[in-house]
Formats: sequence, C-alpha cells, structure tokens
Amino acid sequence: MSTQNRQGELMQLTFAYPMPYEWSIGLYGSRFFQEIKEKRRFIGIKCNGCGMVYVPPRRVCGPCFKELSELVPLSDTGVITAFSVVNYPFIDPNTGLQRPIPYTYGYIRLDGADNIFSHIINETDLGRIHVGMKVRAVFKEPDRMQGNIQDIKYFDIIS
Ligand SMILES: [Zn+2]
Repeated sequence: MSTQNRQGELMQLTFAYPMPYEWSIGLYGSRFFQEIKEKRRFIGIKCNGCGMVYVPPRRVCGPCFKELSELVPLSDTGVITAFSVVNYPFIDPNTGLQRPIPYTYGYIRLDGADNIFSHIINETDLGRIHVGMKVRAVFKEPDRMQGNIQDIKYFDIIS
C-alpha cells in the first residue's frame, strides 16, 4: 500500500492480512483426498452415459449432463500432455510461501482417465522433459499426509 505524505513523498506501509478460510470440496472431492491420504491411490468417476472417466471425481458429466456416481480406481501413473517450466517467483496459494524456482507445472493424463490432472513435475531441465513422457505420482510419507493436494509431492518421470 502506498500513499503520499504532506511533502508529496511516497510512503509505504507493509502489513499482512490474516485471511483464514475454509470451503467444502464436496462428497467426491472428499473421497478423492481420502483415497490419497489413506490408500495412496487416485480415484476417478465414470459416466455411464458416454463412458468418460474424470479425475478428480465430479458430480455431473459435462458433455452429456448425466449425474455421476461410479467411482473407479486409477493408476498413479500417467502421461505428460503439456508442461511449463516456471521461472517467475510468486506466492504459492497452498502454502502462502514463495515456491522456489524453477519448477515445472504440468498437465498429466492419468492412466485410466480421460481428462487431465495438473500438478508439479519433478524435472526442470527442458532437455530432459517432453510431452508424451510417462510419469508416476510421488506421495508424502504416510505420517505427513493431510488430505489435500499437497499429499502428492510431485510426479516423477519414469520413461
Ligand atoms: Zn457422460
């Protein structure tokens, strides 16, 4: 925040606003994170209308508007469909801290799913990462799981 004093000089005030908040992630969102926390596995949801499998699970299929209810286990492996090596520092909304740079954020199609899942990929060397590579999720240690997206540390390239 900046303002001018009587002499026209810019003054700066720095302060932090504590803004704790919570929101519901819904029935299927809760199941998704429970599976990761307790069983270290992904689940998706299958549409019995068009056959699409979504991860994370959701209540309604976008293309055919059917209500979804068939939860299905998914692999912890997938394929990179897009990625970006990030070199610009900013505050990670999950932690409130600046994420060390560089890091790679990517879109991953988990094996068994039809949509993409986004997360960190554990490779920042552009010569060693490309679309189509196989990755596997690396989870936190069991005693450190909290039931949120950070329970997945990152995805490692496996081939
Ligand atoms: Zn559908």
